[in-house]
Amino acid sequence: MPAPFATQTGHDQHGRYPEATTVEDFRRNLAAVQARIAAACRRAGRDTATVRLLPVSKTKPEASLRLAHAAGCRLLGENKPQEAFGKWEALQDLADLHWSVIGHLQTNKAKLVARFASEFQALDSLRVAEALERRLQAEGRSLDVFVQVNTSGEASKYGVSPENVQDFIQKLPAFQALRVRGLMTLALFSAEAERVRQCFMLLRILRDQLRQDAPASIGLDELSMGMSGDFEIAIEEGATVVRVGQAIFGARSIPDSHYWPTETTGTPPLLTCQFQ
Ligand SMILES: *Cc1c(COP(=O)(O)O)cnc(C)c1O
Repeated sequence: MPAPFATQTGHDQHGRYPEATTVEDFRRNLAAVQARIAAACRRAGRDTATVRLLPVSKTKPEASLRLAHAAGCRLLGENKPQEAFGKWEALQDLADLHWSVIGHLQTNKAKLVARFASEFQALDSLRVAEALERRLQAEGRSLDVFVQVNTSGEASKYGVSPENVQDFIQKLPAFQALRVRGLMTLALFSAEAERVRQCFMLLRILRDQLRQDAPASIGLDELSMGMSGDFEIAIEEGATVVRVGQAIFGARSIPDSHYWPTETTGTPPLLTCQFQ
């Protein structure tokens, strides 16, 4: 059956976005991304207000983050807890700036995240949930969390496997400082739009199935999926949060393999997933 959308990935732009160096650059880039979000929403018959843009500032220096804040950004996504914590400390004077940690967390870094983050999008184990819970209780804080799901079938990607998400979700009500908001995924990094789209479809299908018997305290409204090169496809498939770095801040000098080990041996996820 042909897909109803012909949207291609923008991965050919990857690594080519010019560096934003002024507030005007940030305003223009943010407006351009918002226009692309609006266009994708129109194609999908969705209200633009149902999609939140999360600007991703990883690897970028403090000065860039200040410009982004001046251009209106109030929540920034960072992949590495240590780097994020350092930026939070350096930007204490910007009292209305909040932080979303979107990358894998090791239990020994839970203490950092519990101190400053308002959102954590990469929950993928009970050990991390336990560590966060303990630290959050000590801080008297709570945290919005997304469960990261490995929808690409790549062994190198983090995330709970689609088969295990249901069991995992059932155990999360025990962690009272964690407010579960939904699911997050990183699609296959591929120029083949249909394979990318399948990852997003899988996350939405999973979410819809989980909703049928999820514990009452578990929120499943949010689907965080899509980045600079594929967020339009993600929106067509139901994304409520898109995480966009390069298209706002400019290309990164650190190679992506630092964040996402690349491996292309995965089987197309919809073929392997029992929830199909
Ligand atoms: C870096 C990153 C993004 C944003 O990627 P861009 O290509 O810069 O838009 C999104 N999600 C996660 C988890 C990331 O680490």
